[in-house]
Amino acid sequence: QPRYLIIGAGVVGSSLADELTALGHCDVTVLDRGPLVPGTTAMTGGSSSHAPGLVFQTNVSRTMSGFAQYTAKKFGSLNQPGGLSYNAVGGLEVATTPQRLAELARKEGWAKAAGIPAELISPDECAALHPLLDPTVILGGLHTPTDGLAGAPAAITAQMNRAIDRGAVFVGDQVVVEVLQRGGSVTGVRTADRVFDADVVVSCAGFWGAQLGDLVGLVVPLVPMGHQYAKTSVVESLAAYPDAGRGHADATLPILRHQDADLYYRQHGDQIGIGYYGHRPMPVDMDRLYEATAAESMPSMLPFTAKDFDPAWAETVRILPGVASAEVVDGFNGIFSFTPDGGPMMGEHPGLEGFWVAEAVWVTHSAGVAKTMAQWITHGTPDVDVHGCDLARFTDAQVQPDYVADTSAQAFVEVYDIIHPREPRSVQRGVAVSPFHARQVAAGAVFHVGRQWERPAWYESNANLVDARQPYPADAWAQRHWSPTVLAEAAATRARVGLFDMTSLMRIEVRGPDAATFLSGLLTRTVDRPVGTVVYALLLDDRGGVRSDVTVARLGDDHFQLGINGPMDIDWLGRRRGSEEVTITDITASTCCIGVWGPRSRDLVAPLCSIELRDNTLGYYKAAQATIAGVAVTLMRISYVGELGWEIYADNADGLRLWDRLAEAGEPVGAVLAGRSALDVLRIEKGYRSWGHDMSAEMTPDEAGIGFAVGRKHAFLGREALAQRPIRCRLQTVVALDPDAIVLGGEPVLLDGAVVGHVTSAAFSPTVGRTVAYAKVAPGIDVGDRVSIEYFGRPLAFVVSEPVLVDPAGDRVKG
Ligand code: FAD
Repeated sequence: QPRYLIIGAGVVGSSLADELTALGHCDVTVLDRGPLVPGTTAMTGGSSSHAPGLVFQTNVSRTMSGFAQYTAKKFGSLNQPGGLSYNAVGGLEVATTPQRLAELARKEGWAKAAGIPAELISPDECAALHPLLDPTVILGGLHTPTDGLAGAPAAITAQMNRAIDRGAVFVGDQVVVEVLQRGGSVTGVRTADRVFDADVVVSCAGFWGAQLGDLVGLVVPLVPMGHQYAKTSVVESLAAYPDAGRGHADATLPILRHQDADLYYRQHGDQIGIGYYGHRPMPVDMDRLYEATAAESMPSMLPFTAKDFDPAWAETVRILPGVASAEVVDGFNGIFSFTPDGGPMMGEHPGLEGFWVAEAVWVTHSAGVAKTMAQWITHGTPDVDVHGCDLARFTDAQVQPDYVADTSAQAFVEVYDIIHPREPRSVQRGVAVSPFHARQVAAGAVFHVGRQWERPAWYESNANLVDARQPYPADAWAQRHWSPTVLAEAAATRARVGLFDMTSLMRIEVRGPDAATFLSGLLTRTVDRPVGTVVYALLLDDRGGVRSDVTVARLGDDHFQLGINGPMDIDWLGRRRGSEEVTITDITASTCCIGVWGPRSRDLVAPLCSIELRDNTLGYYKAAQATIAGVAVTLMRISYVGELGWEIYADNADGLRLWDRLAEAGEPVGAVLAGRSALDVLRIEKGYRSWGHDMSAEMTPDEAGIGFAVGRKHAFLGREALAQRPIRCRLQTVVALDPDAIVLGGEPVLLDGAVVGHVTSAAFSPTVGRTVAYAKVAPGIDVGDRVSIEYFGRPLAFVVSEPVLVDPAGDRVKG
């Protein structure tokens, strides 16, 4: 059995030791730079040592909600009379603005979809649960009875003791200064005076994570930030509290969030703890950490900066008037990690086998993360969809220091903000643009972002195409970061032709004598077909889950171009390359792509093209190299909108010329520039799935409704698992009965009052005249069933429809 070494005995490292040993992997050593004194509660000096431990389980991400649910349950099971690992006092989030109240209704939907009991309640009901609240200043609240307080030190101690009982070893006062390696694999770590051998090293170093990454040439994109936490003196109405001073048992009041003012609260016996995110971002200079924290009790605590806290106190007194007679007696600026997208960092080093990372993890998610890490490390495949947590999810541009610093600071600022699902990022804009950017700006493009890329969502210059007779749901939330021009662009594409900038979609080249065998062994269909063939296929994990969907064009005997879903795909393919002679090259930044789609696309492209574009010369799912208006291009006859047309690839240097020639030639045929939002409308009404939304590693191809992409006789990774796996859910197309109804994604789906699934993506379809959505639902639900989808708490009637609403026979796309 492998020898495991965990760096960091915080809540994540100790949970991982517990999970690994529970799986029977008992050769586990946990090192911490801080003290670990046998027989006492573990307080190593990291963030977990002082975390107030509020566990709000509900999250827009199902994976994160799942991690939190597991943590709450597991910590609850660790409770001992001397130390509560979990105190289910319930969670209360209050609204002081109508926008927040609406947001809480939206959140109630996420909770329902995740199976977390939660209920919107009135101001008086809030005050009944939390008597310090002034009901006259709040509009209502969301009560989640199973939320509560994690006692991180107690949970660490309980898990550590259990792991030790199973054979694990915990050693304090050991600073890891070097990670030892040989031939691309880890062999152990070195501390000041000892060497520890290991086959697997997992860095659970919390906000020290980037430093540990430096030891092995790995950028771990997290930023340690100061965050204010303070305790009041005795609050009179709590003075008689019987359990004062008994650690985490010292609370009966629900944990409380007042996100409109970036505040949260918990009870500490007869005192109130106040956490504040409203202050300026305070990134920590790790080179000066020990100097800066020397006066505090541990290295994760910076001195309190009282001035930053003034607005928090003023607002606290307003919302919890009973606290006014007390004062702040104990405060610090605690340190923990923020990341570019707010998600944790989980996964294995791409170039050093056996070096893993589990960092930027809240106490809330710690046990769930640890369980998945244990599964991933020992089995090779995580047990849940980790694409939002995967260390490999960032492109090179997204791990540059400025990018990481700015986006992580923004994640801090926005931690309690109401974020619209289409909210464009406000920092680090313009990092990457396609060669057509100047033309897009001139055409009034409204840009949203995809990873580092600026992508037109729609073009204001198309506003004149809006058909005043085209109805669409009058919903202010749904119309944010949206325009009716989107529908006009979609309609123009169906009627004539649209030009779409597809540059930001990642693509790679796979070359080499073994390329065909390598890819065919991993993909659900063989790509060993004649040069010029394009194949749509899936990458499954060894449990049969869909970890990506890709288009593969064979451009030469040893040369393939793949459209992929992100850097995780490159990482994953790279890891599976054994002795095969193949190279994998990311060509996204050096090339560009224009999608030309619509019934008149052939009239537009054919006259400019050096080859015939008829069905018998370049048919559906065929690729060719040619020139368009003199520009060397690769043409692929595929479409993500369900219309005749091509993806046209060129070198960046030629991109602008290509765009201009196509735009010119498009004028006589009524071509429009069309943005990503129109693309989304078109793909949804056509039945095309989007990976990461409508399918994930938690679903099989059949569950996701893409079983057609699995070759019947073909042998590939995941095939055997697939054959054994029962159907546990289905992705169904649902259509609103009311033309005025809209949903956006994430909402719960109910049948006869019971939650049966959730919406994965949705758009109002101008072709259908209704909102069309995908819903991941229980397997028994079928075409014709009426379901209800709760949008901001309002039930909307939908019917399960045939999977494809536009051109189900595919006549249009085949031209
Ligand atoms: P840590 O607990 O920091 O553990 C990392 C360990 O690694 C440390 O013990 C450290 O000594 C060790 N280490 C580092 N480098 C080395 C090395 N080179 N060699 C050996 N050991 C090393 N989260 C919530 O869910 N709810 C909350 O209410 C909440 N409130 C918070 C309030 C404040 C003020 C702060 C600062 C954080 C809060 N958090 C909260 C966040 C939470 O505390 C952290 O995300 C969590 O504790 C991180 O756990 P960890 O195990 O990853 O890191």
